[in-house]
Amino acid sequence: MSNSKKTDTQLVHGGRRDDWTHGIVNPPVYRASTCLFDSYAELRERCADPSAKKLFYGRKGTPTQWALEEAITELECGEGTMLYPSGVAAITGAILSLVRAGDHILITDSAYEPTRTFSSGLLSQMGVEVEYYDPLIGGDIEKLFRDNTRLVMTESPGSLTFEVQDLPAIIAAAKKHDIYVVVDNTWATPLYLKPLEMGADISIHAVTKYIGGHSDIMLGSATANKRTFKALQRTAYQLGQTCSPDDAFLASRGIRTLAVRLKVHEENALKVAAWLKDQPEVARVLHPAFEDCPGHDIWDRDFAGSTGLFSIVLKGGDYPDTAALVDDLALFKMGFSWGGYESLILPSDPRGCRSVTEWKGEGPVVRIHIGLEDTDDLIEDLAAGLKRYRKRIGA
Ligand SMILES: *Cc1c(COP(=O)(O)O)cnc(C)c1O
Repeated sequence: MSNSKKTDTQLVHGGRRDDWTHGIVNPPVYRASTCLFDSYAELRERCADPSAKKLFYGRKGTPTQWALEEAITELECGEGTMLYPSGVAAITGAILSLVRAGDHILITDSAYEPTRTFSSGLLSQMGVEVEYYDPLIGGDIEKLFRDNTRLVMTESPGSLTFEVQDLPAIIAAAKKHDIYVVVDNTWATPLYLKPLEMGADISIHAVTKYIGGHSDIMLGSATANKRTFKALQRTAYQLGQTCSPDDAFLASRGIRTLAVRLKVHEENALKVAAWLKDQPEVARVLHPAFEDCPGHDIWDRDFAGSTGLFSIVLKGGDYPDTAALVDDLALFKMGFSWGGYESLILPSDPRGCRSVTEWKGEGPVVRIHIGLEDTDDLIEDLAAGLKRYRKRIGA
């Protein structure tokens, strides 16, 4: 499949092969464990190459999953994509496909917390040495490389605190030493950052977030380049990774509107963040498109846009005080995850998930996801919440 089509066209046509759709618009939901063969010869033919997209056994997927894989592969400019039952499973599956006992790996200190939990937990137990690095390290990451360094696990911008990493510098350093680079690309989506085009080996999405887009599925994807795809695939098969066709169908449906949704998330978030920046209760806005966000210049150079997720640092007060802000909001609901059409808010303390950098805030950090609502209504809701917060801390 050619990568020459423009993104909006890829979003509409990705994965919709005629022999998968059979004359309707969307690849249907094929629910399957057993697939049937007409003859032994046919069985042998279809099982010969497990990566060929031929019906063989439900765990290896059906056209419903293949259509989604193909659409994501095209958007990420990769060799192939594996699907997983969650974003976390995609992260662990990708890391496990590239490391072995005795290896040393580097993980960004701003990583999504379950990535840290897996690395410091299971991965360490398996004899892989895990070291964290400052997300703003850039090309100096080379100083942390050892003879047995196998992989750098990045995430840009960082979860909760939004530091933007110099991926080209990190990738260039890693390439010199034949070290793999894996990127958690969930925040930017395949539309606003293409890590594989920059030279990274695997790009991961919590499809749960923007690709799904409606807060109703759990799904992950890992897209690999030529040098890593076979290993990624082999590991996913050995681990028995698969995903439900119903969730894959919903994710494919989400892809069709990803660009139009993201445009509104981006615009709305920029409006609300600009307003927040001027509020007396807010010390800082941590949003890559804002100049004071660490790594903003790198975001400006490397990313094609920003999405709806950012944080604010409140001025004064402590985490228990954030209840005054978040408990009685009318439109912003409180909950984990993000990337759906709805606005969310979540007090989130970065202090507990750091190893080599120290988080210093003027007050508590509150993470905000801006949905597709009208921004005047969202701002009115937040204004009332900030007023309650100020009263509570007596400022
Ligand atoms: C949510 C998230 C994940 C994990 O996705 P799940 O589908 O919830 O397992 C991974 N990385 C980032 C950056 C996330 O925000």
